[in-house]
Amino acid sequence: MANRVRNFGAGPAALPLPVLEQIRDELLDFRGTGMSILESSHRGPAYSEIHEEAMTNLRRLLEAGEEYEILFMTGGARTQFSLVAMNLLTRGSRADYVTTGRWSELALDAGRRFGAVREIWTSAPHGHDRVPGDDELAPDPRAAFVHYTSNNTIYGTQYHRVPESGGAPLVCDMSSDILSWPLDVSRFGVIYAGAQKNLGPAGVTVVVVRRDLLERSEPSLPETMSYAAMAAKRSLVNTPPVFSIYGLALVTRHWLSQGGVREIERRNREKAELLYAAIDGSEGFYRGHARPDSRSRMNVTFNLPTPELEASFLTGAAAEGLAALKGHRSVGGVRASIYNVAELEGVRELAAFMNDFRARNG
Ligand code: PMP
Repeated sequence: MANRVRNFGAGPAALPLPVLEQIRDELLDFRGTGMSILESSHRGPAYSEIHEEAMTNLRRLLEAGEEYEILFMTGGARTQFSLVAMNLLTRGSRADYVTTGRWSELALDAGRRFGAVREIWTSAPHGHDRVPGDDELAPDPRAAFVHYTSNNTIYGTQYHRVPESGGAPLVCDMSSDILSWPLDVSRFGVIYAGAQKNLGPAGVTVVVVRRDLLERSEPSLPETMSYAAMAAKRSLVNTPPVFSIYGLALVTRHWLSQGGVREIERRNREKAELLYAAIDGSEGFYRGHARPDSRSRMNVTFNLPTPELEASFLTGAAAEGLAALKGHRSVGGVRASIYNVAELEGVRELAAFMNDFRARNG
């Protein structure tokens, strides 16, 4: 498709072209029902099949066992910052937080409003340029949970392991790297993620919660905000974001047909290596924000020698169809978001543009 750009936006992010084409093709008449999925009852057979498929596909891709419930909630990851504490931080308990960027700081702030919380490590003093090693973390084994953010979308840092929680349930905001590499779900109490980066269109928030933790949700919580109530009703307490869940069903089906998470990881490594090689081979022209051992394979963040060169880089890239590369305002510079859907060919074009731009301006 000649007029589609290479989209390096941080989210909502690019969707697989075959998925967009399928959505277009069945938009007016969903599989012979004579109406759009956007117009179908969320309790009718057409949507029910989609709802169940979305849950099953996600469970398969995550390799999550039956001891986990998959919930489809709303309000984005941002709402989960509060809901995690509302559901899990029971009276008299305390939760530990690791803060490695803006989103984990907001999660900590939200937690503070519902109970006792403790920040056990932060990368703030060094501009959120890395994540901690296990030897730097000493979570309380009696903590209600230990919260961390696996990929820091703004700063471009990422854990390449599941951190040790010392026995307390591990809670992870995986909004910007869920399904990007195979991980052992059994290490987690709760995983949550907004859909709009690696899962599908914005609107649904996925929550994967270990069943034994459901007992902690107080019956006084509104049903739409209670993990236990949502699990009991298969996330159909109220009208779910049907279009977003439909998109998620198609995106997860697409990845299952492509070889699953191991194949996704292989592609992600190759893409990230291309861009970090362009940074490392630039003799200091491009300065990566993240320290090498914490480099994100999802968001590659870097600066150029001057703001003028950064502006000219962004304009030049856009003119070549390399879109949405402007860094977040708190870091500036350039951010190339290369989520699961970003194609290798587009990343090659960006690496070539980086090398060429440096040759012309270095
Ligand atoms: N957590 C992370 C790691 C994110 O990247 C984002 C959004 N960029 C959020 C939370 C907030 O997500 P939402 O907009 O779905 O609330």
